[in-house]
Amino acid sequence: MHKPDFLPYGRQSIDDDDVAAVVSALRSDWLTTGPMVPRFEEAVASACGVEHAVAVSSGTAALHAAMNAIGIGRGDEVIVPAMTFVATANAVVYCGGRPVFADVDPTTLLISPSSVERLIGPRTKAVVAVDYAGQPCDYDALRVLTSPRSLKLVADACHAIGGSDRDRPVGSLADVSTFSFHPVKHVTTGEGGAVVTGDAEIAAKARVFRNHGITTDHRQREREGSWFYEMVDLGFNYRITDFQCALGISQLAKLGVWVARRRQLAARYDEALRTIPGVQPLAIRPGAAHAYHLYVVRVAPRAGTDRATVYSRLRASGIGVNVHYVPVHLHPFYRREFGTGPGLCPVAEAAYEEILSLPMFPGMADGDVDRVVNTLVRVLPEA
Ligand SMILES: *Cc1c(COP(=O)(O)O)cnc(C)c1O
Repeated sequence: MHKPDFLPYGRQSIDDDDVAAVVSALRSDWLTTGPMVPRFEEAVASACGVEHAVAVSSGTAALHAAMNAIGIGRGDEVIVPAMTFVATANAVVYCGGRPVFADVDPTTLLISPSSVERLIGPRTKAVVAVDYAGQPCDYDALRVLTSPRSLKLVADACHAIGGSDRDRPVGSLADVSTFSFHPVKHVTTGEGGAVVTGDAEIAAKARVFRNHGITTDHRQREREGSWFYEMVDLGFNYRITDFQCALGISQLAKLGVWVARRRQLAARYDEALRTIPGVQPLAIRPGAAHAYHLYVVRVAPRAGTDRATVYSRLRASGIGVNVHYVPVHLHPFYRREFGTGPGLCPVAEAAYEEILSLPMFPGMADGDVDRVVNTLVRVLPEA
């Protein structure tokens, strides 16, 4: 399928240092949990300006661990945005909770604080904000809603590592934040994720959760005999391997350079698209420093040509555009199990008809942006 000149919407960058780091971990005494795991966790925590990071096997595992750590259980409601990847809502369901879908702001596609406010009820336990495309949400506005009601504020920051809000790094903006290290994200470990928090209790719960619910208190082991361990809660095997963390450490060292490159590419898109009617980049909130996991535009339907047509024409021309996302409440599972459906989040539903993610990854050349924009102009109908 992938022709040599096909430009994907996202792609990892792997250099010789990354390869050497993985090879050296493979040649060490440790394949799974070893010294690279805490080293990677320290690097992630330090990049986020918080005390604790717990590395796990995926971003989805990180969301599950976060929901468990804040105590989501049967009957609890958790407010999540409709415009996100399914894993955000699924993590609530894993814990027996009910995701309640909030609508998004039409200009940024970030969770709308006024929509959240309308949905808070007696069973609400937490709000999950998603830093859609890499732009941090307005956590200050969300805190005004969550703090007085003792609700937990969670950041699904899988798009946004390296971003910040008024100089406060993503990862430090919510009670607990989650990251993914899937290859399309900023930093990769193949598969992987992290729970990041300033709260020692949340971090401790996530550590136990990723290892079957087994405590690893060494003082207790010394007391009881070294063979002894206790399973105190129901957990999972959500561990990440040492060689993945070796890759993560090597990758994370380049995060700053990569985010800067993503911002340059975004600025080039912004400039080129300014003169193209009907193609509108998403807005940036004041104070937000965008990490540009995605570069999303809205393509207004005109002259009988909708987003689907533009999408297939671009793909046929070797431009690997994508659509992020089908609103979660429209998926058959949620319709069937939670009675959701069209009309629940009209802003997200209308946006879904128009959004396109243009190619965005640090290995792109300036000329790739120009090629995307020129192809877009060519496939759009005459105004
Ligand atoms: C990628 C992603 C996830 C899931 O991460 P995995 O590592 O693929 O499990 C969750 N939420 C959002 C918003 C994501 O983009």
